[in-house]
Amino acid sequence: MKQVKFEYTDSKSFAEKLSEFKKQCSETEKRVFQMYTEDLRPEVFAEVSGAIESVFPDDLYFGCSTSGNIVDCQLVGSISVVCTVFERETTQIKLFQYDTTKMSTDEITAAIVEQTKLNPWVKAIEMYFTIPDGSTTRFCAGLKDVAPDVQIFGAVACSDDITSDDSCVFSKGNGFSEKSILILFYGGEDFYVESINATGWKPLGRKFIVTKSNGSVLQELDGVPAYRVYRKYLNIKNDENFFYNTLEFPLFYEHNNTTILRTPVSSNADDSITMSSDIDVGSVVRMSYGDPVTIVESIKQDSLRIAEFRPDVIHIFSCAARRAFWGDTEPTFEIYPLGGIAPSVGFFSHGEFIRANENLNQHNVTLVIAAMREGEKKNSEVKTVPMDENLQSKVPVVSRMATFVSVVAQELEETNQKLETMNDKLKVAAIIDGLTGLYNRKEIQSRIADSLANVKNQKFSLIMLDIDNFKQVNDTFGHQEGDNVIVALANILNNKQSAYSGSSSAGRWGGEEFMMLLHNTDVSSAALIADLVRQCFVNISFPLARKQTVSLGVTQAREDDTVDGLCTRVDTALYEAKKTGKNKVVVF
Ligand code: GH3
Ligand code: MG
Ligand code: MG
Repeated sequence: MKQVKFEYTDSKSFAEKLSEFKKQCSETEKRVFQMYTEDLRPEVFAEVSGAIESVFPDDLYFGCSTSGNIVDCQLVGSISVVCTVFERETTQIKLFQYDTTKMSTDEITAAIVEQTKLNPWVKAIEMYFTIPDGSTTRFCAGLKDVAPDVQIFGAVACSDDITSDDSCVFSKGNGFSEKSILILFYGGEDFYVESINATGWKPLGRKFIVTKSNGSVLQELDGVPAYRVYRKYLNIKNDENFFYNTLEFPLFYEHNNTTILRTPVSSNADDSITMSSDIDVGSVVRMSYGDPVTIVESIKQDSLRIAEFRPDVIHIFSCAARRAFWGDTEPTFEIYPLGGIAPSVGFFSHGEFIRANENLNQHNVTLVIAAMREGEKKNSEVKTVPMDENLQSKVPVVSRMATFVSVVAQELEETNQKLETMNDKLKVAAIIDGLTGLYNRKEIQSRIADSLANVKNQKFSLIMLDIDNFKQVNDTFGHQEGDNVIVALANILNNKQSAYSGSSSAGRWGGEEFMMLLHNTDVSSAALIADLVRQCFVNISFPLARKQTVSLGVTQAREDDTVDGLCTRVDTALYEAKKTGKNKVVVF
């Protein structure tokens, strides 16, 4: 597999160069011409394709509009043509172009999946989109049925003006289109491919939750209009420079187990922000910061992986935002380490695609690298071009500040987490009795008051309990054994709560006194439950105190009751039980 580059000036000299090239071509090779252009006029496409058709009438060609063309890791002229020559007879290539004005997203993805089944040799799908009207999420999800070992990568075409919506794709047999998806299948026994993505951007500061969004319009972060968040944290004004000013600070989040970046494209009158693609509601996002050192370091690591693969050619899809980030002097600076590995071709795009963990996602601000090879790994030594080492030692102040902000934000998040946990514990402590785990008196009183306020709609009953001769337990066997007896009764009340079919609340009223509130229960059912509790308790044998008993008063709430009146009545019933022999239930 090899790559042949053509410098394009005009169609006549291009045709001559093609004829010259044809002399070296063999019968058994397959050729694919790919053409990238910053010039979107259909006549440019017609000229280039006409020249290819005239010299290589049987060969495939395709291309798209771009925001800058990359050949061998350098930004080249506004039209670039490269021919990839496949030398193995087993290698297969197939090209499809789907018109998005004539087919729905579901029809297109179904057609692609169907084609992968008809062509089981497919190992890689390369995609070229014209700038879509809406989200590509449905498209990406639609390709989930492509066999998991097929790699999928590609990009959205772009134009010189990165804020423009104009773009085109074109291919042999399908012509020029401003609304299409171009698909290439690569595969065969001797074809190998490895695709990866890199960003290098790192998260900055605190988390936000996307609370409102509609497709690629991001409406609210943590309930606040998205633009106000950008203005507050970055002091970015809502003017014609908004796009360029926010470019360095895309949103960073996890989706389908991969990190995704989305750039703000424009701010709207309602303080929403149109993003480079959609972000789902519920996504946890952070602003992120493009740090030159981290970016370079991360791509260096990826280059080593690519070098290890020993590719014959490399395809590069790099976001136009990255070109803007590095500036005009060295727009392809970050990909120099790929330069020594293999010939490469690519372009600056409007969005990037890559399948990772079986999920296809559209990215932004991302670099997608696809390495291809025919045959086994060659043993040749592959070197990457070393980066400017000076860059490593010069960590810019702004990068240190970004690290500082991130660490502070992280610490704040941890502190908030601790405070929240403490707050939850305090909330529990405020209503729960420490010894028994039942509600405390205040809470059970407030529940009685709530139930009484609603007694017209729902009846309820109270059971008040007091352990008999408890002072003796303490005096004879000690306070600890006394506590055991209290906890044992509390456990019965808790069990009653779960075994009892209706809903109820149990609380500790005082030392060895308890109150049960039984919702939707009349006095006769409450009396039965009370006697059950009494029997359970009397059946326990304590290590020292042996058998103990409890007395219970029962009453049902009446519509004219006050909380005090009701509690006094149940207390009187309990007192009556004590007076008349203890270990019994008295109903009032
Ligand atoms: P009666 O049958 O009339 O209820 O007699 P009694 O001895 O149970 O009545 P009294 O109310 O005089 O005694 C209650 C005792 O409970 C007094 C107090 O020391 C003890 N007590 C209160 N709270 C606790 C506690 O949390 N643990 C223990 N071990 N004892 C407690
Ligand atoms: Mg008592
Ligand atoms: Mg008692």
